[in-house]
Formats: sequence, structure tokens, C-alpha cells
Amino acid sequence: MGSRNPDRIPIAMRRRRCESVGDMIRLGWDVHSKCEACGLLFRVNLRLIARVKGADFSLWNRKERCKRLGCVGFVNFQGKAPDMSWHEVLSAPWPEDRS
Ligand SMILES: [Zn+2]
Repeated sequence: MGSRNPDRIPIAMRRRRCESVGDMIRLGWDVHSKCEACGLLFRVNLRLIARVKGADFSLWNRKERCKRLGCVGFVNFQGKAPDMSWHEVLSAPWPEDRS
């Protein structure tokens, strides 16, 4: 059995089609936030973000302060498309070629 690894699609390539939380909801992404210091893990409510910040809001390359009391760490966002096996950090350069 040959290619069993759709994760070979670089996350940066995915960003082109999935920039905003509206795109992520439409394409069925699952997103976590994880603190780099204490490891606190949250499931991100994409629909809530879309309602509060707007469907065009982007989680790519974003960091926020950890919500745990006393923690000075930052959380990053990790996304998983339906055809991915695990979550990957939503970190990618802005797509260069926008033709
Ligand atoms: Zn923390």
C-alpha cells in the first residue's frame, strides 16, 4: 500500500485555501490552542470566534497569553483538517503566489 500520508501536504500550502476561521469551519478543521509553558490545552470554538471577531479572522501565526492563572506563557494554535492525522501548529508564511 503506497501513499498513506496526506500529511505530506505542507501546512503552508493548506493556508492558501484556509486562511480564515470561516474557511476552517467550512472545511471542517478542528483547532486546539496549547500553552507553550504549561501545556494547557483547549479546544478552540471556531464558530464562537467567527461570531465575535468575524469570519475573516485568522488564527495563523497568532499567539495569545495563556489563560491559566499565574502562567506567563503563550498559547499557539494547532489545526487539523479532516484528512490530516494530527494537529499541526498554524504557523506558515503568508502565501507568496496569490495569482
Ligand atoms: Zn500556560
